[in-house]
Formats: sequence, C-alpha cells, structure tokens
Amino acid sequence: MSSHTLDELLAAGVSGRHVLVRSDLNVPLDGSTVTDDGRVRASLPVLTKLAEAGAKVIVMAHLGRPKGTVDPKYSIAPAAARLGELADFDVTVASDVVGPSAREAAASLADGAVLVLENVRYDARETSKVDAEREQFARELAELTGENGAYVNDAFGAVHRKHASVYDIAALLPSYQGDLVATEVNVLKTLTEAPKRPYVVVLGGSKVSDKLAVIDNLLGKADHLLIGGGMAFTFLKAQGYAIGGSLLEEDQIDTCTEYLSRAKELGCDIIVPSDVVVAEKFGADAAHEVLAADKIEEASFGSSGLGLDIGPKTAELFASYITSANTVFWNGPMGVFEIPAFAEGTRTVARALADSEAFSVVGGGDSAAAVRSLGFADDDFGHISTGGGASLEYLEGKTLPGVAALER
Ligand code: ADP
Ligand code: MG
Repeated sequence: MSSHTLDELLAAGVSGRHVLVRSDLNVPLDGSTVTDDGRVRASLPVLTKLAEAGAKVIVMAHLGRPKGTVDPKYSIAPAAARLGELADFDVTVASDVVGPSAREAAASLADGAVLVLENVRYDARETSKVDAEREQFARELAELTGENGAYVNDAFGAVHRKHASVYDIAALLPSYQGDLVATEVNVLKTLTEAPKRPYVVVLGGSKVSDKLAVIDNLLGKADHLLIGGGMAFTFLKAQGYAIGGSLLEEDQIDTCTEYLSRAKELGCDIIVPSDVVVAEKFGADAAHEVLAADKIEEASFGSSGLGLDIGPKTAELFASYITSANTVFWNGPMGVFEIPAFAEGTRTVARALADSEAFSVVGGGDSAAAVRSLGFADDDFGHISTGGGASLEYLEGKTLPGVAALER
C-alpha cells in the first residue's frame, strides 16, 4: 500500500482551499528562545509549497508535554515566531486550538497565508487513549477547514503516536504524506532493507530500556554495534565489571547478557567501551580521569565515580569502525556532551561520521542537538532525522500509526 503524495495534492489544486498540516515544531526552548530550530527549518519546505500554491494553511503542532492543560510554558508561539522569521509567507498564531480564536482565524485566512494553532496537546483529547475522545477532537480540527479541506502529515517526529492530529484525522479528510515524512521513511527503508556493508550502528544516550528493542532488531542486521553513552554501563555491568556510581539499569542486566551472547551467534559484533572518562561527581567543575573499563572504581578520588564519556581509546576505535563502514546509523550521544569535559567522545564519533563517505543517518533529538552544538553542519551527515522515537520504532520493525493512517 502507498499513500498519496504532496505533489498529488498540489496537482489536484489547493488554491483557496484550507489545508490542515500536522508539522513537527517541537523545538527545545530556553525561556521563549528557540535553541535549535532544526525542526522548524525541516517543516518549512512543505508549508512553502502549499502557501505558494495559494492554500489557506492551518498548522497543527505540539511542543513538549503540557499533559492536556493550557500551560504558557509550552506555548507554540516561540516556534511559530521562528517559523515567521524564516518563511516567505505570513504566519499568524491562534490563541487556542479549536476554540473561537482558531475558528475565526481559520475562517478569515487569506490564500497563501499560514495559521499556526496553539499546542495541540493543550487539549487532553489529542493524546487520549479513548478512541471516541480523539475522534471528536479530530472532527473539530477537521471542521476548521470548512468545505473541500485536505490533510497533510509532515510531522515525522510524531508519526509513532496514535494521536488525534496524527492518526484519527486522516480518516476524516483527503489525506497526503508530506515530503519530510516521505524522505524520512525512505531513508529508514534503506537502512532496514538493503544497507551497504559494513553496516555500523552506534548507540548511546541515557537509557538502555529506551533502546533495547532496537538492539534486538538490529542484532541480525548490523555488522557492528558500538555502544557508548550512559547505556554502556549496564553492558559493562553485564560483563561483570564494577561501574561505581555510573548509570545503571539493574533490571536490564540480564537482557544485555542475552544480547551479548546472541550477537556472537548472529555474527554481529557488540563493542562496549574499553576505557571511560570517570568523574568524581556530575558537573562542569568535577575532577575526572580516564580509566580502563574494568578499573572504574580505582579512580584517585574514590570508588563511586561516574562514567560520563567514553575514553579516547574507545572513541578512536569507534571512529575507525565508522571510517570503514558503508552505512552508519547513530542514535544517542557518547557522553554528557552538554559539559565540555565529557563531549570528546561524541565529538570524535561525529567527526568520523562527517568525514566518512558512508550513507549516514543521525537520529534522536539530543543527538541532532549534540552534533549542531559541537559545530557540525547538517550537511556533514547524510541525513539528520527529525524523529528520534519514530526512527527507533521503525528500526524496531514496528508499524508507525501516522504513516499507516495515510495508507488507508
Ligand atoms: P537522543 O535524544 O539522541 O535519542 P537520549 O535522549 O537517549 O538521546 O540521551 C541523551 C542524553 O544522554 C544527553 O542529555 C546526555 O547528557 C546523556 N548521556 C550520555 N552519556 C551519558 C552518561 N555516560 N551518563 C549520563 N548521561 C549520559
Ligand atoms: Mg533525548
């Protein structure tokens, strides 16, 4: 099955029609300042195409997790303001989602202009587990389009959610797949169906449990699985090492052990750090030392140190695997990159990836933010995915509700 494309919608004609677009404007904020506008930029092409074709565009998007209540901290306004700065079209913002402000603004929207609705997650029905509640909310959203409306899903970062603006609404309006979703899905297809070998997967970040399912699925597919970040310590523990006060998910140790032995049978190398940067405490001014992975508790400041980055030997080894790979998928920073003393592992891996000719995909919100904050450009990499959770779920082999809904 396939879905209708944005080009099909444009060919059908959108001038004067209301088009409801689910975009991903879920950007990190510092107060009301957008600290990484990658997702706003990624949303721009589809909105521009529609505006230039004369559509009355209504954007639905979420920001953070306001949990179904109006909370100014999660207002979409800063993201919409950034969109307005980058765009060639007019952007206005409604002060509610499907209330009087949204309805009036939608009804009076000019051809070629863009209206951004307030955070769709201000309404508890958006994420409700009760089908009828989501469906009713989807109907109210669809009604904003009046006669002859259409729906475009371009929010790759949200396609793994069975939410009203992502899933239910596709049953109510003629529905189309946005270019960003199409690109992301194609990239992931390349990774799952026919990766050029050697295929190296680099996993890091903070939680093993978030990423275990993807390891399960990748064991039979990747040639080398490089494990860094906080999740590496549960693997080190599974190998019998003492890890001081490093991140540990006790209940995942057995699963890690099982993966290590299954990897051997399947001919996939799991490579865990052989050295780590151990800090006395969590903080920018913490004393820290490089230690072998089996000597974490032998730091000069005592036995309760925290492993906050992969060590230089490990980083070089990871870089050499990346250099000889033809396909690389990377999700999750190698260390606490937000603190310069623990950013080197992530930097070394990012540099190797930027220098390589391999087809490379960087997935994950923090991973994307990490490579940008370390000074790399988006085009240093084959593809920076806008959706961490969505790309992981795809690689786990799960169906993405927002993608499937367009195929009905
Ligand atoms: P992504 O969003 O790219 O999927 P995650 O959310 O899984 O990545 O993890 C990112 C976080 O992991 C970062 O904030 C980083 O500081 C943290 N992290 C990485 N390595 C460690 C470590 N060794 N100990 C604690 N936290 C870590
Ligand atoms: Mg994250």
